[in-house]
Amino acid sequence: MLKIILPDEYNFCFGVERALELAREHMNNGDSFDTLGEIIHNPHVVKEFEEKGIKVINSPEESTKRKILIRSHGVPPETIEKIKSLGKEIIDATCPFVKHAHDSARKLVEEGYFLLIIGKKYHPEVIGIQGHAHGKGCVVINGEEVEQLNLRGKKVGIVSQTTMLLWNVQDVITAVLKQNPKEVRYINTRCSTTERRQNATRELAKKVDVMIIVGGKHSSNTNRLYEIAKEHAPAAYLIESYEELKPEWFEKARIVGITGGASTPPQDVLKVKEIIEKI
Ligand code: SF4
Repeated sequence: MLKIILPDEYNFCFGVERALELAREHMNNGDSFDTLGEIIHNPHVVKEFEEKGIKVINSPEESTKRKILIRSHGVPPETIEKIKSLGKEIIDATCPFVKHAHDSARKLVEEGYFLLIIGKKYHPEVIGIQGHAHGKGCVVINGEEVEQLNLRGKKVGIVSQTTMLLWNVQDVITAVLKQNPKEVRYINTRCSTTERRQNATRELAKKVDVMIIVGGKHSSNTNRLYEIAKEHAPAAYLIESYEELKPEWFEKARIVGITGGASTPPQDVLKVKEIIEKI
């Protein structure tokens, strides 16, 4: 008999829940708005909003509505100015954890630190952090990239994208220290929700034969969970929907673990569980 285990926390994270609540509140008030980028990296939720007339736009100029919603990833200050200059109102769903990363990065730059942002280059959240740091900040993902820089004698300030793994942060800080900087100041901008979810995924992956991560394939936090699962479970798969499940994945499995990314609707995780039970 196949045993299926779910972690305690597999619902939307606080920031995503907040963004969805804000969007629904405005929708119920009859507001007309677009979202700048997908409100969350989940095709089902994006479709649900599109069916209600809320379009995903890639730049403020594309919007024909009165208001624009900024999603939990946040945006650089120039984008906020652009929206205002077009005479549109902002529904700001930037996650407070992301705002903390903005403020920390700006503070480090204003205090004269050479800023390192640990994260994925060109990720919207990282672009936002860089924007709030007056366009400064060098984006690195690991210690190897730090080796390409010359930090000797510099005051180095470090923040990270909220979803970064602790391993990336430690690797970067170790590489920075090797370069004999004058000073290193690290502000922890990793999100505690992400950290709890990553820890729970690691513990679960160690106990199971197969680990299933449910979530958008473009979602940064979902991909981090998949990396952790691959490292600790004998087999791990990342799927967006139950339709991608393959019976052969479970042929020799006795215990299966399932979890979802921060932007995965809990019902998607439960649907995957239901289908695996039938398999
Ligand atoms: S993962 Fe963390 S930082 Fe990102 S939206 Fe959710 S709560 Fe906010």
